[in-house]
Amino acid sequence: MRKIEDWQARSVVNRSNAGTRYGFDASLNPYRGCAHGCHYCYARETHRFLGLDVGEDFVQRLFVKKNLAPRLSNELRRIPLQQVIALGTATDPYQSLEGRHRLTRHVLQAVSVSGHALTITTKSPLVVRDLDLLSQLAATGQVVVHISLISLDRGLLRALEPGAPSPQVRLHTIERLAVHVPVVLFAAPIVPYLTDQKASLNDLYAAAGAAGASAVMASRMRLSPVVKPYFFDWLRQYRPALLPAYQRLYPGLAQFPNQAYTQNLRSLLHALAEQHGLAADLPRPIPRLRLAQTQFDFMGHDSPPQQNHP
Ligand code: SF4
Repeated sequence: MRKIEDWQARSVVNRSNAGTRYGFDASLNPYRGCAHGCHYCYARETHRFLGLDVGEDFVQRLFVKKNLAPRLSNELRRIPLQQVIALGTATDPYQSLEGRHRLTRHVLQAVSVSGHALTITTKSPLVVRDLDLLSQLAATGQVVVHISLISLDRGLLRALEPGAPSPQVRLHTIERLAVHVPVVLFAAPIVPYLTDQKASLNDLYAAAGAAGASAVMASRMRLSPVVKPYFFDWLRQYRPALLPAYQRLYPGLAQFPNQAYTQNLRSLLHALAEQHGLAADLPRPIPRLRLAQTQFDFMGHDSPPQQNHP
């Protein structure tokens, strides 16, 4: 039985050094836990900090950050404008809770005032509800949407991501968005022996490209020491025959697949992205200041230096 509770967050925007290599400097998650319940989800670990478990609790005990709306504008003022904010790093910001609570929509409204650059990662078609705001943000280059989809195999995804929309719904979401907003196929994580076959990745890249995705973000699967036992338990039930191969790929405390596997996967992903014309360099959203600044430069005026801007 699902339980939804209010949560008072100490801060609603989190600075993140770790995110810099993934193209963001701060993260924002309106909810805790995620009804999509992907078994590979690294964010399951965050429920441990609440004294809850990484299995059922992550999916059934959901928290709504009730103080997000009153705190957000103030916290945004403290984030330098040149920093990119990632919305949805530890939860899906458009999971079904959003239909009622509209916190993600509130974030878009706040960012359209503050001028920050934003990436959004989601599996949900609810993102289309906010096309009005997304189109405005996209017009100034401020937003890029990542649609998370790792395979077109409906049956496999039903097992791996039991609460998430079907692949067809997500492709349709890419199609609806891509007319107005830059859309990235977020093909992460690549799940060894389940979604890493060349033919299935080829079909995925082709379908996402045809739907309008302009770039792809794909990566190997990380299994933290907390999530690994949970994932292996799931595998034991779903595909027990794969367990020995996984134990070899992720031995002991290893969080990533071994070097040989990683190298092969990288080469395959690189070749597929090229073949399907999907950029491997992600489009980076830009703050509104930068556009204003560019216009200023075009007018031939002297301008103050852009500090720390990439
Ligand atoms: S949708 Fe994202 S945050 Fe939600 S369970 Fe799946 S991977 Fe985790």
